[in-house]
Amino acid sequence: MRVAVIGAGVVGLATTAELLTRGADVTCFERGGPMRERSKGESRIFRYAHRVPELVEAARHALQLFGAWEKAAGQTLVEPVGTVVTGDDVHEWAAAMTEAGAEHFVVEPGSAQLRVPGKATTTSLVDPAGGVIRVDRIRALLTGLTAGALRTAHVHDLEPVGDGVVVHTGAGGEHFDTVVLAAGAATGPLAAQAGIFTPLALHHHARFTFPLREGAPNPPQAWITTSGTLTYQHSSTPGHWAVGLELGPDQVGWLQGKDASVDTLREATVAYVAQELEHVEPRVVDEVYCTPYDDLPDGIHHVRRDHVLVVYGENLMKFAPLIGDRTATMALEGR
Ligand SMILES: Cc1cc2nc3c(=O)[nH]c(=O)nc-3n(C[C@H](O)[C@H](O)[C@H](O)COP(=O)(O)OP(=O)(O)OC[C@H]3O[C@@H](n4cnc5c(N)ncnc54)[C@H](O)[C@@H]3O)c2cc1C
Repeated sequence: MRVAVIGAGVVGLATTAELLTRGADVTCFERGGPMRERSKGESRIFRYAHRVPELVEAARHALQLFGAWEKAAGQTLVEPVGTVVTGDDVHEWAAAMTEAGAEHFVVEPGSAQLRVPGKATTTSLVDPAGGVIRVDRIRALLTGLTAGALRTAHVHDLEPVGDGVVVHTGAGGEHFDTVVLAAGAATGPLAAQAGIFTPLALHHHARFTFPLREGAPNPPQAWITTSGTLTYQHSSTPGHWAVGLELGPDQVGWLQGKDASVDTLREATVAYVAQELEHVEPRVVDEVYCTPYDDLPDGIHHVRRDHVLVVYGENLMKFAPLIGDRTATMALEGR
């Protein structure tokens, strides 16, 4: 079977690697460089903690598969430092963890189980299986595994035909039995050409990195705060702390433009660090920009129409090997 994978983000590369393992004839089309759009940067948060038990189970399954990737890479890909969720709604998260049978602790402010660089002011959930995903190592592993299948080309058109799909690039059209569309922020318009409707609306997001001060907890847990402004925080490299704030559409909506949104986010993030994180210096040393979907909660979405299989979602890095495994099965089995 000839399979085209469109997009060499972590989703497309994980799928390509799995398809190659299963003996398929795969071409992965990438318009830029591998893992340079939504998958760029050096790190992400891993967690079992989710608001619904199905995603706790999915994360647990993904961690087992990360173990197989770690063997192939010969190094740790998920650093098990733990993840903390702090906020008024942690009992909802704890209920999902309990239902899925995942170990967790619910603790009050000041608990010795908290190793984060600021004060948790409300109840927290400690997820000991959580931690930091080493994206730089995953990029090296997956680009190595898929090197023979990668082709640099911008796919501008998908043309469904009776027995497959013609993929059009600047070099002309090429027939494939199945197309897996994993083009990140560009998925919606390409999917629509195959009659599949997926989210189109995007907004601006940027995560900023700051130096940790001496005396900060070591190693710190990854940290999500849900009361007030939603934040995602973790140690991106030793001695550094990455912070992503979620702001509303009036501040980071598509029509605000990239530059204005990033300026607003930088100002808000620096103010947050200065006010809330005693162990972090409010001095930006790095930033990662991307365009997430509007209003799409965590989750993995697959939609198929005839010979086109679309995969999309939000916060997918933590599920990457599971997505590769499932998407390869769906592509090869036509379901
Ligand atoms: C700042 C930030 C923080 C995040 N934090 C977390 C976290 O803590 N935990 C977590 O699990 N996830 C997190 N995520 C989300 C996670 O990184 C993404 O969900 C995941 O990387 C998405 O991968 P992807 O393959 O779907 O998309 P992408 O990486 O964007 O890949 C899509 C690829 O398709 C290519 N492409 C698009 N159109 C075409 C075309 N027409 N022709 C050829 N190629 C094309 C693009 O060039 C791109 O390389 C975060 C993301 C960001 C940016």
